[in-house]
Amino acid sequence: MKSEINILKERLVEIAHLVSTLALLEWDQQIGMPEKASDSRAKSIAHLSSLAHRHYVNLDHDLLLTKLKEAVDSKKISSSKDKALILETWKNYEREKKIPESLVKEMAELTSRAHSVWAEARKQNKFSLFEPYLAKIVSLKQKQAKAIGYKNSPYDALIDIYEPGMTAHEASLILGDLKEFLIPFIQQVKLSKKKIQSSTGFDGKSKFDLETQRLFNEMLAEHIGFDTKAGKIAVSTHPFTSGFHPHDVRFTTRYKDNDLFHAIGSTIHETGHALYEQGLPAEHFGTPLGESVSLGIHESQSRMWENNIGKSVEFWKYFYPKLQKTFLVPFKQVKLDQFLKKLNEVKPTLIRTESDEVTYNIHIIIRFEIERGLIEGKIKVKDLPKIWNEKYKTYLGITVPSDSFGCLQDVHWSSGLFGYFPTYSFGNLYAAQFYNAMHKEIPKMRLLISQGKFTEINIWLRKNIHSHGKLFSAKDLSKKISGETLGSAAFKAYLTEKYL
Ligand code: ZN
Repeated sequence: MKSEINILKERLVEIAHLVSTLALLEWDQQIGMPEKASDSRAKSIAHLSSLAHRHYVNLDHDLLLTKLKEAVDSKKISSSKDKALILETWKNYEREKKIPESLVKEMAELTSRAHSVWAEARKQNKFSLFEPYLAKIVSLKQKQAKAIGYKNSPYDALIDIYEPGMTAHEASLILGDLKEFLIPFIQQVKLSKKKIQSSTGFDGKSKFDLETQRLFNEMLAEHIGFDTKAGKIAVSTHPFTSGFHPHDVRFTTRYKDNDLFHAIGSTIHETGHALYEQGLPAEHFGTPLGESVSLGIHESQSRMWENNIGKSVEFWKYFYPKLQKTFLVPFKQVKLDQFLKKLNEVKPTLIRTESDEVTYNIHIIIRFEIERGLIEGKIKVKDLPKIWNEKYKTYLGITVPSDSFGCLQDVHWSSGLFGYFPTYSFGNLYAAQFYNAMHKEIPKMRLLISQGKFTEINIWLRKNIHSHGKLFSAKDLSKKISGETLGSAAFKAYLTEKYL
């Protein structure tokens, strides 16, 4: 079977070249494309998307994949790597095969246009501009779910794309449990003696030169472990990471001249994603063994760096003196303790990407409940602003003043990403589980962090997570590392210890 497996690998790598090129076009679309290129770029992306899809569906034209799948089923293939490669490819193939090429193309063209419309609607604070596009996207996603097939909810077919093995029901159990904990917890933090959220005389406001911020943030990324010879850092409205190959991983961050925390949080977050992409085994490029496990696992890497490590006392013991030297005003006058309290302030806010690590999950739970409702046909697109605002009032106690600060704030739905949001919270939960496991194996981890030494952490992450590609499912990987599947216990314990 060895030669057949090699032929399959060759075919997958050919598709991967297309997908990498597609990702590069999308990267450029977000960071450097001229305004008028929007339509032609949409067409290029749609064309390449359907081409990649066609190649994927063609994988089995001579029944090569079917033969390999049968060999796995009849236990003729024993290598766990070969088995994982074949079964994962089979699963994707089965899914792609069920989606008509016309739907793939229609979706790619629609979402590419909807992106600009969404941006304009957000700018003008006019949901009605975006509404017809969103309605069309929801209807195409329902069609896609139907084509893929599902047992209980059409949302199952969509969430499985991003978090393989997850269902709407399981997600609602995990997130429902988290919601029940968080709503009273946010109130408890307000009253906590630790007063981590209380005013310390430092409000974090000042003017921060953008170029100086850029240099500081790039220093952080590199010091943590980002390989600048195999990656690049740029600026975009919504920070994101794209891995075209482990040797070409790009991420963006964003700078505000009146807010330093924003860029630092985004930079450390995206660095976590980028380290995962750079840590994937290059020798398996293009095959499932060279891909990340799931978005939830991906997000665990960014969240762990951003929050568990990047908002810890130890981390800033090392970096704060450097920050003070870089921005004498205002930090010369601010003690580390004051800085940390501001950095870890818990306060319900309107914008997901600006929220703290506690309330963040409520933003996600709101989106999950709404998008599941949309896909299941229980919520109408026209009611989105109303329902959004009600949930923000009920869960976070805040009034949404306008759709730009409400349901128009995120890019995801305009890109057709339904079933994606929950993976952000899964990331927080996995991060807490993995952080504990890593701490057990590296007892002096906190000391190392306070000395600015991250090599051991990176080696651990690479060995236990990055280097496996998709050899293990998210569930198995989680069990292998932390002894448990995804749940909120470790995360709740982490928050309780830190904030109460
Ligand atoms: Zn992320």
